[in-house]
Amino acid sequence: MKLMKFLLPAFCVAMLLVPALPVPEFWITQLNYIGLYATVSLGLVLLTGVAGLTSFGQAAFVGVGAYTSAYLTTAFALSPWLALFVGLGLAVVVALLLGALTLRMSGHYLPLATICWGLALNYTMANMEFLGKYDGLLGVPALSIGDISLASGRAMYVLIWIVALGAAIAVTNLLDSRTGRAIRSLKNGTTMAEAMGISTFQYKLLAFVLAAMLAAVSGWLFAHFQRTVNPSPFNLAKGIEFLFMAVLGGVGHVWGAFTGAAVVKLVEDQLQVLLPALIGTSGNFETIVFGLVLILVLKYAPDGLWTFVKGWVPAPQRVRDWADAAPLAARDHPPRGELLLDVKKVRKQFGGLVAVNDVSFTIHAGDIMGLLGPNGAGKSTTFNLVTGVLGLTSGEVVFRGHPVAGLPSRDIAKLGMSRTFQHVKMIPEMTVLENVALGGYLRTKSGPVQAMLKLDRDEERRLFAEAERQLARIGMVDKMHELAGNLALGPQRLMEIARALCTDPSLLLLDEPAAGLRLKEKQALADVLRQLKAEGLSILLVEHDMDFVMGLVDHITVMEFGTKLMSGTPAEVQASPEVRAAYLGTEH
Ligand code: ADP
Ligand code: MG
Repeated sequence: MKLMKFLLPAFCVAMLLVPALPVPEFWITQLNYIGLYATVSLGLVLLTGVAGLTSFGQAAFVGVGAYTSAYLTTAFALSPWLALFVGLGLAVVVALLLGALTLRMSGHYLPLATICWGLALNYTMANMEFLGKYDGLLGVPALSIGDISLASGRAMYVLIWIVALGAAIAVTNLLDSRTGRAIRSLKNGTTMAEAMGISTFQYKLLAFVLAAMLAAVSGWLFAHFQRTVNPSPFNLAKGIEFLFMAVLGGVGHVWGAFTGAAVVKLVEDQLQVLLPALIGTSGNFETIVFGLVLILVLKYAPDGLWTFVKGWVPAPQRVRDWADAAPLAARDHPPRGELLLDVKKVRKQFGGLVAVNDVSFTIHAGDIMGLLGPNGAGKSTTFNLVTGVLGLTSGEVVFRGHPVAGLPSRDIAKLGMSRTFQHVKMIPEMTVLENVALGGYLRTKSGPVQAMLKLDRDEERRLFAEAERQLARIGMVDKMHELAGNLALGPQRLMEIARALCTDPSLLLLDEPAAGLRLKEKQALADVLRQLKAEGLSILLVEHDMDFVMGLVDHITVMEFGTKLMSGTPAEVQASPEVRAAYLGTEH
């Protein structure tokens, strides 16, 4: 972080000094294109690299920005600065519409959809009479700021690089924020993020809109730099090229966008001369080369060229600046003994399989309830019904007086239920502290604009103080700066508990927290749970290991084949011949 902190301003100053130096005009033009391309591929870093949404259609948004300004300034003599805002507004509207239609698609459908709308937007530009069809629009005016004209390449250089570097700083700030962590959580499936209260669709849409805005700004600069627009720079091949830049540079990294844009632009110029000479006819052969290299990069260096840089850039370590931060607001917790959770005849069928068969139980505040049963008994499914991860076939769940059956898990999380997962769900490339901070999502509120301008630092300090406090509660402070993906399973499970605690839950739900742990880790976990119980926390503990549960819980509900076998105190359950039979029957 320290090195990066120094590198970033140094790079910005160096880039902005270039036009004052005796750099030949040719290189100024090259750098202008690199700045323009980097701005677009920065959007793809956010969208594809960070959020995991692949778009081949980004060039179309560049076209929206370019054409809007070219048309409004030539046909209506509108000020280019006003036209910028119209273009941005249009890009946002188009992105919201396309995003609402396509971002719910999964797997390969989304990239295919981006190809479709990329083509559609490009054909629209190329076939509209008022946009000059394939000839485009000529005579786009130069930009000016007051009396200063930006007609020269050098003057445009300054504006292009202020925009590109400003965008890079804004995106860097964004990624290190509440909003950024929400966007970073999108790539690994949505279940965990939703359980932390994050509306994953909303953040996919946000990433999509921000990427479209970056493309549109670049298009606007492009139109007034070239002083003419036509459809070809905004076609699908260009869309693929932008993606190629982002992937080649390192699609998860802000500076990868710049590296990729520079390499692609410079190599492209060489190839455009070299390839037709080699092949003997003219054509855009460089696109084919890029396509092949893209496949190789994805296979051998999925982190792009950044893979080779990462080795000598130290892992980011957060400066611990939150020692005196005020605590986050806390929830009103129910008094001990109050009915907290009332599960009434919940049922879940998967086709013909009744995974959960009209199961009922209650939890009172301050209790630890164990949900026990052999593997496949329906414990996790019951758990998912209660927390809203799965929809119920029938039944009712009442939490603190609110009927919650059928609500999405993020709305149930708002009411004070928080959970861990049987198979740990985390963001491996985030630190332990950042993963835990995800749990504080609903207790904080700063948005993307505050994040980009770094106006969220006070709230961030309060959030990280809380995350550290929760890590201390489970005895893991010493690991807070480690990458979550580097931890062993035991600490990962504890980290999930800290993340759940960071939501300030009234009911903590743990799905087989001891599974896969070594004996020592199990003992450490049992100590943590005993301590949480002593602090008055209510817990629903799903477990198949009977011995682990016995010394911990107040009540036990036993399930077998989806049905509730019995419920009672640990002593009653232990004495029950049915329970013994169920366990012996499956374990031997
Ligand atoms: P437990 O957590 O007690 O081990 P689960 O709740 O995971 O059990 O599973 C209960 C039963 O439901 C199992 O037979 C399992 O195969 C089935 N099941 C769980 N999830 C699904 C699903 N998404 N689709 C179909 N069957 C499922
Ligand atoms: Mg399970």
